Amino acid sequence: MEHHTVIIVGGGPAGLPLAVVLGGWHPYYRGSHIFTQRYPQLADVLCQLKHTLLKLDFKALLRQGIPPVDLFRLLHHPRLKFLELSQIALDFRPEESIDYLLITQEEVGGLWNNVPQNLLTLSPGQWMEFPFYPLAQHIKEQGLELDVNALINKQNLLHYYHRIPDRFAQTDRIHTHEKVTRIEPHERGFLLTSRDVGTETTHRYTCKYLVYAVGQRCIPRQLNVPGEELSFVVDHYNRPEDFPGKRVVVVGGGRSADWAATELYDAGKQIYYVMRQPFERHWRLISDSRGGLPYYARIAEIMESRTDRFQTLYRTHIQSIEQGKAGSLVTLTRDGQEQVLEIDHVILEIGGTADYSLFEGFPPLKLVEKYDNYRFQLHQAETHLHNYESINIPNLYMGGYLAAGLGLVVIAMHGTTYAIAGDILQKEGRIL
Ligand SMILES: Cc1cc2nc3c(=O)[nH]c(=O)nc-3n(C[C@H](O)[C@H](O)[C@H](O)COP(=O)(O)OP(=O)(O)OC[C@H]3O[C@@H](n4cnc5c(N)ncnc54)[C@H](O)[C@@H]3O)c2cc1C
Repeated sequence: MEHHTVIIVGGGPAGLPLAVVLGGWHPYYRGSHIFTQRYPQLADVLCQLKHTLLKLDFKALLRQGIPPVDLFRLLHHPRLKFLELSQIALDFRPEESIDYLLITQEEVGGLWNNVPQNLLTLSPGQWMEFPFYPLAQHIKEQGLELDVNALINKQNLLHYYHRIPDRFAQTDRIHTHEKVTRIEPHERGFLLTSRDVGTETTHRYTCKYLVYAVGQRCIPRQLNVPGEELSFVVDHYNRPEDFPGKRVVVVGGGRSADWAATELYDAGKQIYYVMRQPFERHWRLISDSRGGLPYYARIAEIMESRTDRFQTLYRTHIQSIEQGKAGSLVTLTRDGQEQVLEIDHVILEIGGTADYSLFEGFPPLKLVEKYDNYRFQLHQAETHLHNYESINIPNLYMGGYLAAGLGLVVIAMHGTTYAIAGDILQKEGRIL
């Protein structure tokens, strides 16, 4: 059976940078004008350090009120707008790698491989980057024309993430299209069983440290209504061309559903937009976002036009979906009143949940619920705040925002990378 010191499960924006840092690219403080100007006390302390920041005493820092996730965010983004590479107060130097393996069930880049073809981020492109490879540098190296302070689309973001394994010579340690199916205790730490996606070939590995970075969308949510399995019902929206008919029911109410409903409307479809939440809640998100995000300005404009081609159905529940003699039917209820729609497609954009069911034979993880303004929601696991290690399963680290309390966006969770890598390397006595 193959053994590794560390195994990372999940190659999204949380797991991928850990591979690079464990692969030997260690952060050092180099300072920057803007960092020193804004955080002079931190700069005074950090500029004395000759060693890598992975050697910091993260526990002591936390006692002084500085969680590692925030420290590294400030070093990476001392101001939110990107003006020049030299504003990043971190420098990465290649050093000895630790033995690790990253296993992920799609390409690296995580859920961005599966979002709609034209989806734009919520945040500027450079908030999605890793500091060892600023987006501005990628653009320069690849001869691209992109504004790093503008929203970035799926294609350009994936191009950036997909480039990273090769750019940092980590390709050999990354297994893509392999799904971890079970994680059990083992005398060497953890025993993982995995399967190559689309085949029956299984693998078994052991490791001493495990980083669980599977993101929030492992298990798609279901409506649990009759007819959900019919061929005209899909749980994934990619692009309007996939929906040749005219009448589309979009079920959701969060950001992914908003995107699908807007794009399909603009492609000329008749939209029935069904959600359980009341109008006020949905409209609050739209009006809060319309100033900064062009696609929210667009949905606001469509709704304000009160066009019949975009019907929003609030506080509405789907009861059943069926293939009638004359066409496909969806039965809805609102306040006890029933309504039947004749439609061509149903798109479920009702999110997914993080999958903790892979763990067998461990004490149960302590989970807490987390929501954000964009209706992302998931269960996070309680961890120590200085290293993001589970509070009840030693040597298990929660990657990205699976650790309790972290914000559900890349800029808010990326800093955990360094505390996790630092903790493992310190335990292994690998940092001098
Ligand atoms: C529609 C949408 C839009 C978003 N927009 C933004 C945005 O604009 N800005 C922002 O900062 N954040 C955004 N987010 C938050 C988003 O979750 C992050 O951008 C980021 O992708 C999360 O990274 P992650 O690595 O934690 O998870 P993921 O990106 O989900 O990556 C986890 C990876 O692990 C894989 N995996 C899961 N289970 C297994 C298993 N058992 N075995 C092997 N591999 C497994 C998954 O398939 C996936 O590839 C958005 C989220 C969604 C859903």
